[in-house]
Amino acid sequence: MSRPLRWRLAQLALTLEEDESQLPLRLAQQLGLKPEQLADWRICRRSIDARRKQRILRLYTLEFSLQAGVSLPLPAQHMAGLEPVPPPVVAPALIRTRRPRSLVVVGMGPAGLFAALELAQCGHRVRLLERGAPVEERVPAVAAFWAGGPLLPDTNVQFGEGGAGTFSDGKLTTRIRHPATAHVLQTLVDCGAPADILVQAKPHVGTDRLRRVLLHFRQRLLALGVELCYHSRLTGLQIEKGCLQGLEWRDRAGESRYSACDALVLATGHSARDTYQLLAAAGLELEAKPFAVGVRIEHPVTAINRMQYGREQHPHLPPADYALTWNDSVSGRGVYSFCMCPGGEVVQSASEPDTVVVNGMSRLRRDGPLSNSALVVTVRPEDFGGLRDPLAGIAFQRRIEQRACGGPGDYRVPAQNLLDFLGQGRGGDLHSSCRAGLRPAELRELLPDFVYTLLRQALPQFDRRMRGFVSGAAVLLAPETRTSAPVRILRGADLQATRCCGLYPAGEGAGYAGGIVSAAVDGLRVARQLAADLDAARPSG
Ligand code: FAD
Repeated sequence: MSRPLRWRLAQLALTLEEDESQLPLRLAQQLGLKPEQLADWRICRRSIDARRKQRILRLYTLEFSLQAGVSLPLPAQHMAGLEPVPPPVVAPALIRTRRPRSLVVVGMGPAGLFAALELAQCGHRVRLLERGAPVEERVPAVAAFWAGGPLLPDTNVQFGEGGAGTFSDGKLTTRIRHPATAHVLQTLVDCGAPADILVQAKPHVGTDRLRRVLLHFRQRLLALGVELCYHSRLTGLQIEKGCLQGLEWRDRAGESRYSACDALVLATGHSARDTYQLLAAAGLELEAKPFAVGVRIEHPVTAINRMQYGREQHPHLPPADYALTWNDSVSGRGVYSFCMCPGGEVVQSASEPDTVVVNGMSRLRRDGPLSNSALVVTVRPEDFGGLRDPLAGIAFQRRIEQRACGGPGDYRVPAQNLLDFLGQGRGGDLHSSCRAGLRPAELRELLPDFVYTLLRQALPQFDRRMRGFVSGAAVLLAPETRTSAPVRILRGADLQATRCCGLYPAGEGAGYAGGIVSAAVDGLRVARQLAADLDAARPSG
């Protein structure tokens, strides 16, 4: 058997006081070698083990090779956590076409951007439609909205170049284990994301850096000849005999246009409610899916650090995060924290007039004084009539979002001190990062009863796990309704919509992803399938 050239050792620990420059020495010691017997080494995973607050460790997985003629000593060969580095996963070759087709991708979120890039690299003519503005225009429009300006229906936190994640923490963790994940992360690094995201156990890029990444991504698309159409909204589909023929769209001048196309990737995200309507009207097969509804909780960073690290700060520790879950055995529902933003801010994320929706974002440095997270309760189709009407989840979300609005044009966010919410007396001030401003409110009046009741039951459980979680320093903001898509667009094994060949639903809005990376991976999967289908359909000769 041939000797592996490279090895990987997991769980190499440094204390907070030790410097990373000590890693090669520690690696060699652990292996029973001298440092000079290592040919090279690199960090391929970095995480924090804070289970014992008295001895917080930084854990590393290192990849290394040995100098010629050096072998691993016998005890090291059987060491737990040591394994040969598997051969790299070879990315599927691009299906380069000699017969370019006219393809349309709708949506410039992660799914649409990655799909368009892949299809253009295959050599197809791609037109990419986005209802919202380019990022340079979108950022000031959203800032103006948070400062009391108008809500623009097509350019807001949900809509515009970069999609829903542009004003986010840019967390890049995902539970999917798809080989294309590495490709997505590498592409983001090539477009300017910090290289650290390739090794962090919990990578994040931050809203500030993400905006820069989008500009580089755009340059790549332009260089490949992709036609970028901003302020351009899909308004209709022309389907004949079960196959897509073309699309109607409204351009930036407000003119209605029709374009024939060979295929369309639909990556319109979970907030494109009018788009779901047009799909239903066009006869596509849709179904209601579960999602979650609740509140966002905000604590001082130092309080969360104390709970998680046993100290308020340390130069080698990032602001702490947490993940909390509790299951109600009676209803079988889960209550869980979601999309935690350490050192971030709560953002008003509405996309419809006179509604309020919250979510969270942070900068790369996560250097704000407050940490926020969603606390949400699972909602099932039977809770909102979804078994009868596939679009009922949208109406359910909208009712909550409208109840949260203080009146026409009042986009302040309803907020309540956590102790008040729990009926434990009057808590402290409403100290929040939310730039849209707060409106003191009784949150029970806007949340569905079961959501309110289960949140009140779960919070003391969370406090048992993180002592101090329930305190007068915490504020709840509501409602958090856009946790994932309320609708799924059914597609077959060939990734085409079940009732419409040539239409490829992708990403979170289609119900096949949840988060930036999984949406990007789904966009890639769909693009590769579409490219393969077009290749297979090519006439021979
Ligand atoms: P989207 O990103 O929603 O993109 C869809 C695009 O389609 C939008 O730009 C929209 O304008 C456009 N569109 C819609 N309808 C039409 C139409 N008819 N015509 C033309 N264009 C249309 N996920 C994470 O993994 N990590 C995080 O830290 C994180 N934080 C978040 C913070 C916030 C504030 C929000 C709102 C979301 C966050 N998410 C996060 C979720 C993440 O953003 C989404 O999962 C992801 O963006 C989904 O990608 P997508 O491409 O499927 O859809």
